[in-house]
Formats: sequence, C-alpha cells, structure tokens
Amino acid sequence: MRYAWRIRNICVVLLPDSSIDQKGITMLIVSKFGGTSSADANMLLKIKAFLESNPDRRYAIVSAPGKRHTNDVKMTNLLRECVFLAKRGESYNSVLNVIESRLKETISQLGVEYNLTRDFDLLRDALKEKACGFEAYVESRGEFFNGKILASLMGWPFVDTKECIRFDKNGFNPYLSNALVQNILSTKERAVIPGYYGSSTRDGSIRLFSRGGSDITGAIVAQAVGADLYENVTDVDGVFAADPGIVMHAKTIPLMTYQELREMAHGGAGVIHPDALLPVKRARIPTRVLHLLHPEGPYTDVISDLEDNRKIRYVGVAAKSGFAVITVKNSSMTYGVGFAKRLLQVLVDFDINFEQMPSSSLDSVSLIINHDQLPGTVLQNLVEAIKKQCTDDYNDDDSVSYTRDGALVCVIGLGMVGAIGASADIFVALKDAGVNISTINQGATEEAILIGIHPLDMDRAVLAIHDRCIAPQ
Ligand code: ASP
Repeated sequence: MRYAWRIRNICVVLLPDSSIDQKGITMLIVSKFGGTSSADANMLLKIKAFLESNPDRRYAIVSAPGKRHTNDVKMTNLLRECVFLAKRGESYNSVLNVIESRLKETISQLGVEYNLTRDFDLLRDALKEKACGFEAYVESRGEFFNGKILASLMGWPFVDTKECIRFDKNGFNPYLSNALVQNILSTKERAVIPGYYGSSTRDGSIRLFSRGGSDITGAIVAQAVGADLYENVTDVDGVFAADPGIVMHAKTIPLMTYQELREMAHGGAGVIHPDALLPVKRARIPTRVLHLLHPEGPYTDVISDLEDNRKIRYVGVAAKSGFAVITVKNSSMTYGVGFAKRLLQVLVDFDINFEQMPSSSLDSVSLIINHDQLPGTVLQNLVEAIKKQCTDDYNDDDSVSYTRDGALVCVIGLGMVGAIGASADIFVALKDAGVNISTINQGATEEAILIGIHPLDMDRAVLAIHDRCIAPQ
C-alpha cells in the first residue's frame, strides 16, 4: 500500500490510501468493530470481507454483539441482566438461554470450528458461584465469545486481553499494558482481540473499562503496535456535525483533531468513547471513523494538529441532558479563602465526579453533575452535606438548591480560538430560537463553549446553532 498526501481544505495529512501499492511499502492498520457492526453472522462476514480487502489490516478488535434491529438487546446488557438476577438470587436461566442460542446460531450460520460448550460452562459456573468480581467476568463474555468466533472465521489467532490489558489500584495501567500488548503481538502477524476488558495485576480477575470501552482497547492496541492508522469501524458515516436524529441535514465532518472529537464525544456525540482518543493522540496515530458497509466514505479523519484552521470556526455541536444542577449561595465565598476547597471536598467524600462549576454572581456557584453519579437518594444527601459545609445559618441568604433538569450544549471548534464574535453568533442563534441560557462556560483555550439549558430546549438549540454557525443556509 502507499502513503498518500491527501489535500483537504488546505490541510496536508498523512493517511493511508487503500489503492494497491506499486512500491511495496506496507502499513499497519488496527481496526475496531462496534457492536452493531458485529451483531450477527451476516455482519461478521462483512467484517471478514472488510479485513481481507486490505492485507494491511492486521489486528481486529471486536465488541460484544450489539443490536440486530431496533427492539433487540445488546449482549452486554443481557449479561448484565444475568448478573443482576444472580445477585438477587433470582433465576437468570431464560436470559442465559437467549445468549447461548444467539451465539450458537451465529456459529452454525458461519460454519466455524469454535466449540462454545466449554467456555459457556465457565460462564454458567461463574454465575452460580458468584465469587468476588464475577460481575466483570460475566459482563466481559460478549467480547470474549465474539472475538473467538471472529478469530475462527478469519483463521487468525485469538489474543485474550486478560493477558495484556492490565488494571491496578489506580485503574487502567497504560505502561504495563502497552509493554504486554507489544510483547504478545510482536509474535503475531495478525490477531483478533476482544475489547472492553483486561485483568487485575493483583489477582488476575477481570476488570472492565466503562461502557463503550472497546474503542479504548482498539486505541491501546494501535498505540502499542505503532499503527499507521486506527480504524474505528461503526454503523454511521463518521462523526456528524450535529446529531442527525435532530438535524436531518447534518453532514459528516471530514477532518478534525483528537481534541475536537474528544469534546464532541464527551458532549454527547456517542460515536466513540472520549477516552479512546488519548492513546492515539499520544502516539499521533491518525484515526478514521467509518461505516462498515460503506468504507469508501463519507468518513471522518482525526489527526493531532491542523496547521491551518480550515477556515471554519465551528466543527460541530453536541448536546446531552441528564444533569442535576446544584446552586450554592454563600455571601462570604468571594472574599474568603477555602470555600471552593470545602465544596469540592464534599464531592470527594461522596466519590462524585462533576461536569462543570460555573458561577453566576458574586455570591453563588453551581455544580453540574451527571445523573449517573447520583443514584437513589445520593443527590439529597449530597445537598444536605453541602449545606452543612458551605452555608452559614447566620446569613439568611445562604442556601443550597437543586434541579434535576439540566442539559448542556457544547459547541466545538479550534477555529473559535481568538475569533472575535464566535460566541456572539452562538448566543444569537439561541436567542432567535427562543432558548434560555442558564449557564455559560468557556475556558481560556477557547476550543469549546458549554451552555446550560433546559432539556426541553435541547433539540431546538442544536438545530439553531447548526443552521446559523456550522452550516449557514
Ligand atoms: N460491549 C460493551 C458495551 O456495550 C463495550 C463496547 O461495546 O465497547 O458497552
């Protein structure tokens, strides 16, 4: 294959071209396949064709089987259901049977050699015994089984990430994992590798990344083998400038930076796990987000730096709801010392991660926190603890209030840096769409602006910003 200098929007990028190489230079491509793209026998055959269409595609990372149709359930969710039922002492057999027959159907349709029985018995035992840490083991089996099936189909070795992706007491250990992946794959010209899990350095038990974590596994492998390209193969045509479910005319972003994609992904564009960008960014490995069924494009190429600013200010807009907003009023916070420390210490004590901390007046500050950090009565308990630590009964105006109805819109683009009027245009779009802004947050890097709004205004806000700022009609 050959390297092609692609000229796009004035920016010169080193990316592989899939045409046949005349000079015999080979490349190394790591390809990660999402759940929908590997959901059944038919999709696995498409993966095979995709991998075989370019011999430079040498390492394939696979997710658990995803949804085959709208009402289907992802295999990871079925496995989670088994864990949930097992923990409550209820029968999980019917769910386990659904999983087993689905896998057997795929195996028989493909006619591959893989003998599921032994591995499936281990899963059954784990659910029966419920040993410490069994939850992660069970939840990781979707990737494990799918990896085994794809490896048989391809005739490639299967490399279990239990052996090389390692977690310690601080979480994922990148140094050790990088060395182990490098070591194992140096002896394998090709391999199929399951995503999403690894194992503990302490006792070898299975540990998981967060949901969608196969993207991270793929990026780790790409970094370890020094890939020329990391392909994130999915069921959409790359990264859209806005959610096409809201903005039907939104287009694929042809080229963006890792940082822009990380902001988009975290902001609500679910196409890739935000943390997947870190290993490839560190190793400066170009990444392509593409559709399995039409790899010729449109797709999104992701690179480290853009030497020009593409002459565009805004790359995309993303949004998500599901935030609680806690507002603390304290009339001595501005001139005192240590208020923020006291407030944040409460979050540390509750082991809660927060999204934003905007302040809107001299005496008030808000915390924006994702609902997934606040199960059950945690929000009420947190508010009580903040009241205790951060308000003074003596001051009548001191108070802590909260709402569960928070949403954030995130507008992203390196072209906003130093561009006069970049935020003005966004705010005019929201004003014209009749959207009230509750919080505004922009750091000095100016790469993204985050705007707090009511969840009911979310779609209107995204459409308005897209049509005025990103793709003016
Ligand atoms: N199977 C896991 C999930 O559904 C991980 C992944 O697909 O990346 O989140």
